[in-house]
Amino acid sequence: MSRVYNFCSGPAALPEAVLIKAQQELLDWHGKGVSVMEMSHRSDEFVSILTSAKARLSRLMGISSDYEILFVQGGASGLFAQIPANLCHGFDKACYIDTGTWSSKALKEAKKYTDVVVSGSTKSINYTSVPDFSTLNIDEAAAYLHITPNETIGGVEYMDLPQTDLPIVADMSSNILSRAIDVSKYGMIYAGAQKNIGPAGVAICIVRKDLLERSNDDALPTTWSFANLAKNDSMINTPPTFAIYLADLVFEWLEQNGGVAAMEQHNIAKAELLYQAIDNSSFYSNPIDVRYRSRMNVPFVLADEKLESVFLAESEAAGLSTLAGHRSVGGMRASIYNAMPMAGVEALVAFMKDFEQRYA
Ligand code: PMP
Repeated sequence: MSRVYNFCSGPAALPEAVLIKAQQELLDWHGKGVSVMEMSHRSDEFVSILTSAKARLSRLMGISSDYEILFVQGGASGLFAQIPANLCHGFDKACYIDTGTWSSKALKEAKKYTDVVVSGSTKSINYTSVPDFSTLNIDEAAAYLHITPNETIGGVEYMDLPQTDLPIVADMSSNILSRAIDVSKYGMIYAGAQKNIGPAGVAICIVRKDLLERSNDDALPTTWSFANLAKNDSMINTPPTFAIYLADLVFEWLEQNGGVAAMEQHNIAKAELLYQAIDNSSFYSNPIDVRYRSRMNVPFVLADEKLESVFLAESEAAGLSTLAGHRSVGGMRASIYNAMPMAGVEALVAFMKDFEQRYA
């Protein structure tokens, strides 16, 4: 077996210990003679997995009983529509901060359900920074303020929250569980699983309970209503059982490895090593305002664009997989989520130095 260092932005590398445990339990989960994929979602066994996943996530993130944890299908992109459909009932607008591809997609989708106030945007500077909070246009009569704290494609991350009484709704698809946050400052946090949580197929919502009252069950598709999902413990219909099981195993791995605080230190060290390698060279560069560089997704380009395809071919051959930037922006991008070990970033930095020596 030879596993590579996988820098894919998502679906992304999973902790090896989790894959091994899933493999060991695949044919016979806990002596039940079936795999999790083959169990009724209503069985005591699966309900125990779902309950465990919620309890572990609550412990890891410090989620109080003021919030519901929901498992939904349709990904974070589905939630781009589901959120305004649920939360705008009784309101006629929602505020969005536009910091890149993902926030733009979210606000474009929201426009199908409500008026959108763009409270701030960095589009004019090619999404290389975050709007100055003192210039934000937040309409306090809106249903919520939506933010994207980590832009997976652009590599922009910010964790300060704007001053507002609106519930803040945060798409944390690509940085959930990577750093400590105060959940009580948010109305809702959501994330597709396939980066820091588990395999694709499930998305997680952490919703403050008072916001569930906004779901208008008469108007919403049954499986879309946050209130209905909460009432039915995310099992209105068959949930993505295997993805939820793997998320529980990832949460267990996080707990065994010091939780979010330890991950944060690990992630700071990995990102520093990589950004230093980029900054200490005139061969590589990263265009993002240094205050807002992402710890999770590190885009970089070569001074000589023609060498990019050589870099990608050689890095792939060296066991450093999937370093191409998103198809919309090109260049390179190293996604270094929780499951990426320091050794992977060290191997990448060593490769970059060697490549520079050979081609500069
Ligand atoms: N938001 C962010 C920040 C993302 O990175 C992604 C996926 N890369 C999405 C939303 C969309 O997620 P999904 O594919 O689960 O719809």
